[in-house]
Amino acid sequence: MAKKKYDCLKCPGYCCSYPIIEVKDRDAARIARHFDMPMEKAEKKFFKSAHGYKRIMRRKKDPHFGQICQFFDTEKRRCTIYEARPFPCKDFPGDSNCGYYDFLTFERTAQRDRNFISTTDHSED
Ligand code: SF4
Ligand code: SF4
Repeated sequence: MAKKKYDCLKCPGYCCSYPIIEVKDRDAARIARHFDMPMEKAEKKFFKSAHGYKRIMRRKKDPHFGQICQFFDTEKRRCTIYEARPFPCKDFPGDSNCGYYDFLTFERTAQRDRNFISTTDHSED
């Protein structure tokens, strides 16, 4: 695989703010196991059916993006279930480039602020 041209540790976690993070059966079972929780309880607590999908992640408020995945630490800006995260999270961005990171780098250079965060509010989605 080509070398990664993005650094998630310098990113506020844009991909975790997507309104639809689909969770398939295997991923849901792994997340339930991660919390040592029965599947039925995990199903209600962590997931919901919406946007035509059987199961997507529930979200919570986020100061940068309006809403974000419930498993995101909004202060440290990182995933709290990294080892158990579902396939779409493991697979993203699926390339050596991450479009959002490219945009973030461009904005930070333009603003001459290496901590600048471009906000995209998905809270209404
Ligand atoms: S948006 Fe890109 S750089 Fe940011 S956390 Fe997701 S994959 Fe990493
Ligand atoms: S499970 Fe982790 S990597 Fe996936 S969207 Fe939620 S916080 Fe982000």
